[in-house]
Amino acid sequence: MNNTQAKKYSNTKLIIGITEAVLSFVLLLLFINFNFSLQLEVYIRNFISNDYLTILFFVLALSLISLILFAPFNFYTGYYLEHKYNLSNQTFWKWIIEGLKESLVGAVIGIPLLFLFYFTIKSFGINWWLPFGALMFIVSVLLAQIVPIIILPIFYKITPIENESLKERIVNLSKDAGLNVQNVYKFNMSKNTKKANAAFTGLGKTKRILLGDTLLDNYTEDEIETVIAHELGHYKRKHIVKNIFIGTVFSFLTFFLIAHLHKISLSWFGFSEIAQIASLPLLFLWGAIVGLVQTPITNYISRKFEYEADNYAVISTNKKEAFIQTLEKLTDQNLGDREPHPIVEWFFYSHPSIKNRTNNLSSFI
Ligand SMILES: [Zn+2]
Repeated sequence: MNNTQAKKYSNTKLIIGITEAVLSFVLLLLFINFNFSLQLEVYIRNFISNDYLTILFFVLALSLISLILFAPFNFYTGYYLEHKYNLSNQTFWKWIIEGLKESLVGAVIGIPLLFLFYFTIKSFGINWWLPFGALMFIVSVLLAQIVPIIILPIFYKITPIENESLKERIVNLSKDAGLNVQNVYKFNMSKNTKKANAAFTGLGKTKRILLGDTLLDNYTEDEIETVIAHELGHYKRKHIVKNIFIGTVFSFLTFFLIAHLHKISLSWFGFSEIAQIASLPLLFLWGAIVGLVQTPITNYISRKFEYEADNYAVISTNKKEAFIQTLEKLTDQNLGDREPHPIVEWFFYSHPSIKNRTNNLSSFI
């Protein structure tokens, strides 16, 4: 694979992503402006009198409409493109089933949150952002804990690392970081993709490092060691806890802003009260605008954490060359754009480009 192909792959995904975002924004605006939203609520209320069931069917109807409208985009980026660039190991039906599973898990988590949201907006009026922000903090702590032990196993088979010499390396590495070898697992990423990845997830007792089998099978032990060291860097620098903290500050700020913007703009579209179900898409619109401002900020913080973890990987292993080599290999394998436009990287990238990561490491020590 060469960089021209990687660039084409990345740019196609980027252009489709932006088109999808603009399109959904415009459609949502039209949906509110031409009273379709009000009509949908009235229509549902013909059959249902309970408010909570009404909001549930309202959101389900919106999700179904968006699923149908955006199906061509999802197919193109999620299935077609991955096969065109030979990155996928999924058959069409596996792809559908994985998508269904994701939607189901999303619904199990999302529906109670929707009810909680509706409860707070009905009980607290314009101040809903405060109790809802507090609830979201509790939810994010709970989710961080259950993701590795309950959510991820729905999608992947997660097993302890078996390789003895690798285990020994992990023990040595972990001494300084204070994480146990029992916390390093492998997961069968290869059932879906040829790409490779690793992650640090969990909180408290559930914290662990996960390594894709696509990584374990194709990289030397030195290379794998540097990846584990990078993930340990996230642990050592408390990035998960910091992310929860930063996420909570941002969510209070976001909810506060959209609560007030939503209230101010209700009358523009003929809505009368903030707890009106038909006005929910207006809240989504404001959420999208605030999210747009927030994206580069959270990505900037995430890239900063990645540099910190990279630096930790080099300090703790003393294997700078092996680490750079690993990053190069991963970029090739995942068809990453080596040098995206600086504005694209600044806005969209949660991880620095390989060019910036190697620059950072070269200037380091
Ligand atoms: Zn990382």
